[in-house]
Parts: sequence; structure tokens; C-alpha cells
Amino acid sequence: MRVILLGAPGSGKGTLGERISRATGFPRISTGDLLRKAVREGTPVGRKAEAVMKAGGLVDDATVTGLVRDRIAAPDCLGGYILDGFPRTVAQAEAVEAIDPARPEVVLDLLVSEDVIVARLDGRRICEACGDVYHIVNKPPKPPSVCDACGGDLVQRPDDAAATVRERLRVYREATAPLQARYRAKGTYRPVDGDGFPEDVYSRAAGVLAGEGCRL
Ligand code: AMP
Repeated sequence: MRVILLGAPGSGKGTLGERISRATGFPRISTGDLLRKAVREGTPVGRKAEAVMKAGGLVDDATVTGLVRDRIAAPDCLGGYILDGFPRTVAQAEAVEAIDPARPEVVLDLLVSEDVIVARLDGRRICEACGDVYHIVNKPPKPPSVCDACGGDLVQRPDDAAATVRERLRVYREATAPLQARYRAKGTYRPVDGDGFPEDVYSRAAGVLAGEGCRL
């Protein structure tokens, strides 16, 4: 199974993807995480992507598709995989279908209002060391600014500041929302209410996946 998490930035794709990954054993592949790793390591891809990401734009299709092509060729993807934040354009959707054409597919579109998204992302903090995710109101760490899991420093992603979030949402509406119609026409589109607690969102998504014959 190829599980595609559509949803706007901040709709909860990462959290849901992790839960589905634990339940199914399918790896979660986040192109945002792969790109941030490339930026941290200063690779050619990272150097190319850094400024675009900071501004809230989209990294070019060939670069991102190359990362996904390499990742889904790994043996742990044989039984299935979860794409988080990919595809973000119609060209990317076509690319993954060409790379792995026989794979059954389900597209979970996490629907959350834009006001909720801005509040979620503006308060989101990430552990620099282990990547754990917190929120200053909804999931505060015990000592402020320190990760409960590993003691690492918590930081705001540079692209989570309110102004950049608005640009990311604009890009989402323009480039990514057209995928909804595409997947609807293909018959793989499944909207999921992304509001509320992560457990509730997970149960809704698990219900949809079970209906697709995906064992959780
Ligand atoms: P994310 O962590 O998914 O919110 O991604 C963070 C940033 O990485 C995005 O705002 C884009 O700049 C870039 N990015 C991630 N995935 C893609 C993609 N599929 N296509 C183009 N750019 C991407």
C-alpha cells in the first residue's frame, strides 16, 4: 500500500504518519525531513533547497522526486510506505505513479481550518536533537524550551513563523490543492477530519485504512 498524506502544512500529517507507521510497519517518508537533513548536512541538494524552504516556497519537482525515488527503492518500503508532504504538485504525483505503478494507493487528506493551522504552527517547537514535536499551549514540555525525551533544545522551525506559514498556505492552495480533484477522479481520495486530538484523528484515519483492506 502507498499511503499518501495530503493535508496543508500544520494539518497533522507528521503526527498521523508516525501513528500509522507504528501500526502498519510501513516507513513514513517525509520529504520535509529529508530536505531539512540535506540542509543540515550541507549537501548540494540542501544548499539548493535552503533559501526556498525558508521563504515557504516549493523545492523543484526533480530534486524532491529524486529523494523519493531513492528512498522508496529501499528494502523497508517493499511492503508499503507512507508519503508525508509528497506529492505537492501534479508533476510529483505523476512521477511517483511512474516510479511505482502497481502499488495500491490511498490518499488521506487531513482537513483543518487555516486559523487552527496558523495557531498550531506558530506554537510548534521541535527538539533540535531528536526531532520530538511540542506545542507551547497544547503540548508544552515540562521545563520550558527543553525536550522531555532527550533534554535537547527546543526551537521554532524558521518556516513556522506566522508570516511564512501564510505563504506556505498560499502555495498549498495554489500548487497542492489541485491534487484533491486529481485523486478524487482517480478514486483514491479519502477526506479525513483533522480537527481535535491526535488519537481521534488517528481513529478516523484507521477506520478509512481498514476499509481499504490495510491491516492495522
Ligand atoms: P514540510 O516539513 O512537509 O512542511 O516541508 C517543509 C518545506 O520543505 C516546504 O515548505 C517546502 O519548502 C519543502 N518541501 C517539502 N516537501 C516538498 C515537496 N514535496 N515538494 C516541494 N517542496 C517540498
